[in-house]
Amino acid sequence: MCGIFGVSGSTPAVPLIAAGLKKLEYRGYDSSGIAVNGEKGIWLCKSAGSLSHLEKKLNQSAPPLSSVGIGHTRWATHGKATDLNAHPFLSADGMFAVAHNGIIENYTGLKAFLSEKGFSFVSDTDSEVVPMLLEYFYDGDVLKAIRRAVSELEGAFSLAIITSHAPDCVFAARKDSSLAIGCGKGCSFVSSDIPALSGFAEQCCIPDENSVAVLRKGEIKLFDRQGNRTAPSFKPTGECGGDAEKGDFPFFMLKEIFSQPRCLTDAAAQFTDGKRLKKILFSDEEANAFNRVKLIGCGSAYHAGVAGKNFIERLAGSRACGRVPLSGRTLRRKNSRPVYKSERGNRGHPVCAAARQSKGSGNSRRRKHPFEQHCARSRQDGAHARGHGNSSCHYKGLHNAGAVFVCRRAFAGQGSRNAARLRGALRKRHAERSPRRAGDA
Ligand code: GLU
Repeated sequence: MCGIFGVSGSTPAVPLIAAGLKKLEYRGYDSSGIAVNGEKGIWLCKSAGSLSHLEKKLNQSAPPLSSVGIGHTRWATHGKATDLNAHPFLSADGMFAVAHNGIIENYTGLKAFLSEKGFSFVSDTDSEVVPMLLEYFYDGDVLKAIRRAVSELEGAFSLAIITSHAPDCVFAARKDSSLAIGCGKGCSFVSSDIPALSGFAEQCCIPDENSVAVLRKGEIKLFDRQGNRTAPSFKPTGECGGDAEKGDFPFFMLKEIFSQPRCLTDAAAQFTDGKRLKKILFSDEEANAFNRVKLIGCGSAYHAGVAGKNFIERLAGSRACGRVPLSGRTLRRKNSRPVYKSERGNRGHPVCAAARQSKGSGNSRRRKHPFEQHCARSRQDGAHARGHGNSSCHYKGLHNAGAVFVCRRAFAGQGSRNAARLRGALRKRHAERSPRRAGDA
């Protein structure tokens, strides 16, 4: 994963951003950069390698004392980890700077379109189309240009933007990607996650999908997709799990391992009312229509899938899931898809749970795109696939805990009516399809 950190405040932004990026370091990265709104336009400093390389460059230059800026730690998906490909990126006229997390899936088409309009690109990344689009759409209203540009982007992304057209503001937008905003001590912050806001922001919130946040010193405004103002619901950062410190643990990994019981309980809590599964998981109709649970994943998500299969089969019978295929292999096969041919056309639908890991095993990021295409196709086929419980993105935004969420659903629902229905329905299907196994489980 990579990170975004931005601030609009009253003290020099560069040291704050450098400290914010340090807190995001645990997510992993291969290069970094900072852009601030200087008096002479946007000032930029980028470097491949660790943050210490960037810090060295910062120490050797004289960054403006501007209090408005953005920073980025990049984990390359498109283009090598070089100074040139590091974020933030400038628009051709130098008026916009953008830091981007995620992937712009339609960047090739956008790049071709913008090239025809005379824009030239300096990097190999997908991200560089964003500042160019902003310049292309800008007609005197920055917010409108951002909304217009964002509406052209496909994929999962979070963006932090500064512009010389509105030098006191940091703009932020997100779609299927994590982003948090916070305020404290008269400053407004944006960050890829809440833990990185601890120590900076007293209050924080997660903006809605597709919304645009406008951060000024001591003021945060949120706008929905249509440009209507919405009210942010801030909570104290501590209450939101804002904790990016290693604490007494020597490594973040160790800390994460010990945090698992709390994280799993907290995550499961969103799906239950304390005792029972909430209806948001499956309607009764859906639960009755399931005939099989498919779990696919790769890397650590594959292992989560195997664990999920065991949990589900304890509830629903020994053949409820079948083998957990490796998603890379499954999806590279021509015409393969997460919904299996023999099951299409049947009255029942398989529940297809896909687990994706952010990065770590081979080129798993590259697999995301075909995977999502396959998912979109299977959706057209009428199959029901569910991700991590966010009903607005059944396929996208799945992460490495995806498979675990499915097992958690089945697990947490042991006493619930929904799980009983799912269990019953799965057994019935298996009995119908393989009578020899009617007595299984
Ligand atoms: N896709 C972008 C790139 O390769 C952003 C990667 C990231 O999220 O860091 O530059």
